[in-house]
Amino acid sequence: MANINLSEISSLLKEKIKNYQQVIATDSIGKVIEVGDSIALVSGLDKVMLNELIEFPGGVMGIAQSLESDHVGAILLGDSSLIKEGDTVSATGRILEVPVGECFLGRVVNPLGEAIDGLGSIVSDVYRPVEKKAPGVMARESVNEPLQTGIKVIDALVPIGKGQRELIIGDRQTGKTSIAIDTILNQKDTGVICIYVAIGQKESTVKSVYETLKDNDALRYSIIVSASASTPAPLQYLAPYAGVTMAEYFMEKGKDALIIYDDLSKHAVSYRELSLLLHRPPGREAYPGDVFYLHSRLLERAAKLNKELGGGSITALPIIETQAGDISAYIPTNVISITDGQIFLQTDYFHKGIRPAINAGLSVSRVGGSAQIKAIKKVSGTLRLDLAAYRELESFSQFGSDLDDDTKTRLDRGAKTVEILKQGLHKTLRVEEEYIILYALTRGLLDKVELSDIRKVEEALYSNLRTNEKGKEITKILLETKNSVDDELVKSFINDTIKKAI
Ligand code: ATP
Ligand code: MG
Repeated sequence: MANINLSEISSLLKEKIKNYQQVIATDSIGKVIEVGDSIALVSGLDKVMLNELIEFPGGVMGIAQSLESDHVGAILLGDSSLIKEGDTVSATGRILEVPVGECFLGRVVNPLGEAIDGLGSIVSDVYRPVEKKAPGVMARESVNEPLQTGIKVIDALVPIGKGQRELIIGDRQTGKTSIAIDTILNQKDTGVICIYVAIGQKESTVKSVYETLKDNDALRYSIIVSASASTPAPLQYLAPYAGVTMAEYFMEKGKDALIIYDDLSKHAVSYRELSLLLHRPPGREAYPGDVFYLHSRLLERAAKLNKELGGGSITALPIIETQAGDISAYIPTNVISITDGQIFLQTDYFHKGIRPAINAGLSVSRVGGSAQIKAIKKVSGTLRLDLAAYRELESFSQFGSDLDDDTKTRLDRGAKTVEILKQGLHKTLRVEEEYIILYALTRGLLDKVELSDIRKVEEALYSNLRTNEKGKEITKILLETKNSVDDELVKSFINDTIKKAI
């Protein structure tokens, strides 16, 4: 009896082992049933994970994107002409990883972390998966530290805090990229690591960003991740995730990172292209149903970590291009709802010479106010209302010339406010400079200065802050306390400066 049992068991075991191997074989090996521009449909990969790497012939890698009941749709990271119908593929069980590290600072790379600046390859032995769950609530801390952009109107009216996600939105050619780049320039000597992700941009734009950073000595703390308009859609789709993975490396080391996504409209378009090729059902504006998740899972990865986790942060400035100022289109509304506020740029302001062309009425920062330093908060409190009142009066005053004195004063203050909030390209200001000019403006010290003399006075105020004794004292107190400086001291400094300047 015992003998029979043993042979039965061993034959059963043999059977099991045979079947077990079969199971593995059918799960991880598949066949290409269709291949097209940047995508492939594969059958047989029953257990593949979302975003798993799939190996195609010729070393081409693909990422599993849509998991259907009878096939898997993959986007291809290499040359799709190397692949044909019937080819055998294998699932790898891994998620795509990119190299990260300090060695990327100062470099231009593609979304796979390969150098494309012609300065030699970058060697890093630290790799991170491009898809990762964002830090949870317990890992985070509320936004409480300012990230100065050096742009007066932003720091005063739509302040940004470290760990915040603030959208820059506007039509084409309204200065969106410039705001982002100037914010990078202003991070010099602050220890903030900056990552500029170019998605679907012209090569020339990426080149000029590179030159600007280089010329302003900002390249040493920056990384450019570029998937320009000429790169295949899968790489454009990957670019922002690769960028934030690089930023996370710094955040987890307790550092502050700033990441720019320029722009997410083009990112959504590349995803739409891939989805349509993968035969996924199109929804509103032909985007696939999960286009919200495309950006929400990306922007969730911006965070301010709590002290136990090192206190690092990722601040995100996504950019969205609108058509004819329409912020109610599908992608703009999605991203507006995911971010903590938006900076809205308006074409007609830009053409009138009001640059940065920020519409203060439509721009908000939902969390940055708590991070703004007290001194700036105090001097910019009335600014938004002044501007709104001015816009209203301005349109009325066009009808008649008989204006009472109060209206005239308000119009005058409004015109000066608009003038002062203009700011040249790459002319970012230090916080004490922003404080002094906003103080002069909102406390009425510029009321007697002619509009044509405003620029001259502004320049004099900035230079006196550095050279004059009172100026140096104001700067010192401000930087130490972050709170308002003695009124008499500030007033006399401003009045003295005005007197000498004009
Ligand atoms: P696109 O839609 O092409 O991406 P954009 O909205 O990113 O454009 P920018 O490229 O930043 O706009 O700026 C457009 C032009 O306006 C550039 O030539 C830039 O130099 C100029 N510009 C932007 N901001 C200012 C400014 N504050 N002062 C003067 N010129 C500016
Ligand atoms: Mg741009």
